[in-house]
Amino acid sequence: MIAISVDSPGKLTIRPDTTTRPEGDEVLVRVRRAGICGSDVQILQGSNPFAHYPRIIGHEIAGEVEALGPQVKGLQIGDKVVIDPVVSCGVCYACRIGRHNVCADLAVLGVHRDGGFKSLFMVPASNVIAVPADFDLGIAALAEPFSVAANVLSLTGCSDSDCVLVYGAGPIGLTVLQVAKLKGARCIVVDIDEARLEAARSFGADRVIHSPSEAVSDAVSSENDGLGPTVIIDAAGVPSLMAEALSIASPVGRIGLLGFSTRPTEIVQKDIVAKELSIYGSRLNRKLVPEVVDWLASGALQPLPMISHTFEAADAEAAFALIRENPSLTIKVQLKF
Ligand code: MN
Repeated sequence: MIAISVDSPGKLTIRPDTTTRPEGDEVLVRVRRAGICGSDVQILQGSNPFAHYPRIIGHEIAGEVEALGPQVKGLQIGDKVVIDPVVSCGVCYACRIGRHNVCADLAVLGVHRDGGFKSLFMVPASNVIAVPADFDLGIAALAEPFSVAANVLSLTGCSDSDCVLVYGAGPIGLTVLQVAKLKGARCIVVDIDEARLEAARSFGADRVIHSPSEAVSDAVSSENDGLGPTVIIDAAGVPSLMAEALSIASPVGRIGLLGFSTRPTEIVQKDIVAKELSIYGSRLNRKLVPEVVDWLASGALQPLPMISHTFEAADAEAAFALIRENPSLTIKVQLKF
């Protein structure tokens, strides 16, 4: 049994692990597949504002139930499961109105608490979601990144009357694209990297914009009867895109932000008021993993080509090096336990 720990920024350690028996409502999960997220890379680099060290990272986790605490109901040993990494108090204002993902006492597995890059992972039962027995566990480990897309598009709203523009064709941009297509929207993807835009095209983008060679404002001027995109999602995490998003958005446009940058950026208030724009911050997901599992099971998404590389967990260092050195060659890199 191993655990992958970031002992301090830049220092990834694979160490032997021991795990106790589950108590109360705990579930012990035998981890099979675990996706590496941009936030895991940030914790390793020392640029994640929420992480404390040492930390066992990993929050995109799928596996099988190994053992159950005495109070757990509705799960059996051997069930295939995915983990929702959002641990919430259930009683604060945000939790009471169904916004558990911004709980006043929020703990994210793999960030605030130890995560699932380990052979055996102890998780509260309320964070364990069963998947069908024939479910591929690599696909199951994509439920969390797809839940990020589900969350932001549920906040902004997304339907077949929308024209969605996504900044960024990295792993999260590609999940937003796929969920927007699932909702029937037209979807445009913007990126600076041609290879990533090619991926966006293969995942169903109606149009791609290579922003270094074509101004986004010109490119979208004919969209939505000349009014511009109705939904704009920043999956690139670049604060300065906000000004452009406000200027190109359609009247009654909705803008969803997924990045955690602390850099200030200048925006024009008139754009927001004159068009009655709405701006949504979207963090993780609010108990949307079961719905995402249904989408994945239905075949309505294209998860398999999202998994660009799979490494043995013991080779985690090489997996992180690939993402660091050749980001545009990777979509989702997973570890196999
Ligand atoms: Mn993630």
